Amino acid sequence: MLERRGAGMRHDRHLRHALIDWFPQARVRAARIAVVGAGAVGNEVVKNLALLGAGAIDVFDFDRVELHNLTRAVFLREADVGAPKASALAARAAEVDPAVRVTAVEGDFWDTLPLAALAGYDCAVAAVDNFEARVRLNRMCRIAGVDFVSAGIDSRLASLEAFPFASNPDCACYECHLPESAYQRIAARYSCGGLRRVAAAERLVPTTAITASVAGALAASAALRLGRDAGDGARRVLFDTIGGGASVAALARRAGCAGCGDLGERPRVLAARAAWRERIAAIADDVAVQTSDPLIVGYACARCGDRSRAGQYVLRRARDFDDRIAICAACGEPAVRIDIRDEFTAAELVRLYPDRPPPAKFAIARAGDGALCLDFETDDQRPQQPQRRPE
Ligand SMILES: [Zn+2]
Ligand SMILES: [Zn+2]
Repeated sequence: MLERRGAGMRHDRHLRHALIDWFPQARVRAARIAVVGAGAVGNEVVKNLALLGAGAIDVFDFDRVELHNLTRAVFLREADVGAPKASALAARAAEVDPAVRVTAVEGDFWDTLPLAALAGYDCAVAAVDNFEARVRLNRMCRIAGVDFVSAGIDSRLASLEAFPFASNPDCACYECHLPESAYQRIAARYSCGGLRRVAAAERLVPTTAITASVAGALAASAALRLGRDAGDGARRVLFDTIGGGASVAALARRAGCAGCGDLGERPRVLAARAAWRERIAAIADDVAVQTSDPLIVGYACARCGDRSRAGQYVLRRARDFDDRIAICAACGEPAVRIDIRDEFTAAELVRLYPDRPPPAKFAIARAGDGALCLDFETDDQRPQQPQRRPE
């Protein structure tokens, strides 16, 4: 029993939680959660996690605070406009409970969150406003065997999708039910199969604090797996914040899914930055290897044949450049043929990158009926062990 009075009783803070017979306060206190996105939904997810007493919350965001964020972001203030969102959110969220560690990681999570680090979390929450970030984080979580939760909002609906990869690697992934229109939306941001489209318009989601707070509450609950009926399968919750109606759907795995179809049950993840040559040499020459990032492998003008700038681009990551590099330096025409690929054989990859790994996050090799993931951001030779959550 908890002491009701008594100076400095840390447990008093969670007295009301202790009255709930199924509330796993010890597990919540030990939880490590990655929250990707420090906007409307991210603020609400972090607010709920901090109030519940989650042990550690790491917030990832590359963006800066804008005035129009302030109508939906509980932790951001006018004084924060222009400051990095992740840091502004973390600084104020840390005041909620001194026992909750809130850390900001500024920058794109794709560049700041290695697979080996992701494996140390109990759950990663996508609190972002675009399909591409969700697709990327979903695949990372599926590979690392970490629970993935995706929260979404519009002006009326809050949606929550939960994928318990840690306990059920065979469950559906985020992409198993992603409509074709989402892939078209992602593709519209790129040209030539991987260069950033310089004219791509940013799409703003019309929304209010109402849907953000509902989505944030559902996401925090799912991230901590609260409740006895959270279940072991992938599910989607849609909540109508105007009418109050809700629907829950179990999501089945789809064969041939782009997000999980090539991964088998649980891919073996091997550190492959320092040991690149050794790792790739262990894979048969003709085995297909897919890099996580499209790479530029050819650059020549189709009109005048000039390839004097090829050295600046070839072998580098396509998304580091925009489509202006398709304008030829010699003849001035937008006629450069840029060869961008993410599918190689093991032999091709080692020929292109003899000394160090490709500038990608990871690569997947299909090894028999399973899959092998080469992690290009990690030096350590030991395979990763995802942390198991205490019960
Ligand atoms: Zn899938
Ligand atoms: Zn030319």
